[in-house]
Amino acid sequence: MEIDTLREQVAAASRRLAAEGLVLGTAGNVSGRAGEQVAITPTGAELASLEAGDVTVVALNGAVLAGTLAPTSEIDLHLGVYRRYDAGAVVHTHAPMATALACVLEDELPCVHYAMLALGGAVPVAPYRTFGTPELADAVLDALEGKTAALMANHGAIAWAADVDKAVDSSLLLEWACGVYWRAAQIGTPQALTAEQQQDVVRAAIERSYGTPKQLEDE
Ligand SMILES: [Zn+2]
Repeated sequence: MEIDTLREQVAAASRRLAAEGLVLGTAGNVSGRAGEQVAITPTGAELASLEAGDVTVVALNGAVLAGTLAPTSEIDLHLGVYRRYDAGAVVHTHAPMATALACVLEDELPCVHYAMLALGGAVPVAPYRTFGTPELADAVLDALEGKTAALMANHGAIAWAADVDKAVDSSLLLEWACGVYWRAAQIGTPQALTAEQQQDVVRAAIERSYGTPKQLEDE
């Protein structure tokens, strides 16, 4: 993919996250990877009005390759995900529901709905560390083992995916799941799906190509 196309995608994803209410003002950051280059949102920029030209391009070691604005302070977190996992995009937000639950849940957001299996099931909570530090990046990268999303204690949420659109979709899915859990917790103790129930969902999804449109068959 052309790096300028990727910069457009990162800017569009930032605006979409702002429009969906997952990011407020300058809080949150998005990146996408094309080979050895990463297009990443700049620090201190309003995500609701971000343009492709505002998006900075860095190498996987963090060296700035293009752009006029300094990259997000969470650059170590983004680059760490690319180095450790097979990610094409990373989204980090302070989304309201996810952040609220990340102030209460200690270990994980239980897998209370089968749609959460798209995120790897239960969503782990990474321990609190100061924003923008290598310690935060290390804690979150460890939490992401076997998962594509995590909550960050007293901070927010992160999701990675094959491309920018999918990473935004995962962030929206995580925020929705946090809302489901939050509402359920108001009226009782949310019940998690068992490991067997989760395996059955994965099996059924594979058998039925769940989530993709299908042509009606002629009778
Ligand atoms: Zn943050």
